[in-house]
Amino acid sequence: MAGKPRVGVLALQGDFREHLAVLTALGADARPVRRPEELAEVDGLVIPGGESTVMDKLSRSFGLAEPLRAAIDDGLPVYGTCAGLIMLSDTVLDAIEGQRSIGGLAVKVRRNAFGNQNDSFEADLDVPQLGDEPVHAVFIRAPAIEEVSADVTALATLDDGRIVAAEQGNLLGTSFHPEVTNDYRFHRYFLDKVRSA
Ligand code: GLN
Repeated sequence: MAGKPRVGVLALQGDFREHLAVLTALGADARPVRRPEELAEVDGLVIPGGESTVMDKLSRSFGLAEPLRAAIDDGLPVYGTCAGLIMLSDTVLDAIEGQRSIGGLAVKVRRNAFGNQNDSFEADLDVPQLGDEPVHAVFIRAPAIEEVSADVTALATLDDGRIVAAEQGNLLGTSFHPEVTNDYRFHRYFLDKVRSA
């Protein structure tokens, strides 16, 4: 790919500004995506954290849900963090009535998997694909992946066995929020996917 990769951030709701800032700092041509025409112009897309129930409704009413699924099936690299991971997952457990996801990532994800007691916490994760230094991960009312199909690779797992980062072909998902730390290895890893797509 010549020049800067054009990377969109779904900007319907949630912390899309933080992702735009990180991607720009890493040298991407980062831009908000709210309309199908904007989606058609990007080489990759980040779906931010926020509230998956709201993002679901807005993506459908903005006419983005169907084109986004088609783009995913066509190989568009997409990285979902937290609510974004929920949007990317084929099956959502503890969804609200009528909630749908875009899907593509063959996992079962549970919303708000850590409950009220532990609804925000931080953990150091071993992520061999990103090097020896652990990734300091910030979880905010986070989901967790409870089941993966055979073609999904778990990239990070908590001590209790729950998966919090996973990848399948063009798709990458994390339960946590790398955009609120200073460790952008997950964003770099995603940009490598975009460059090689
Ligand atoms: N609990 C939120 C949801 O279900 C996700 C929280 C987040 O993105 N930080 O969408």
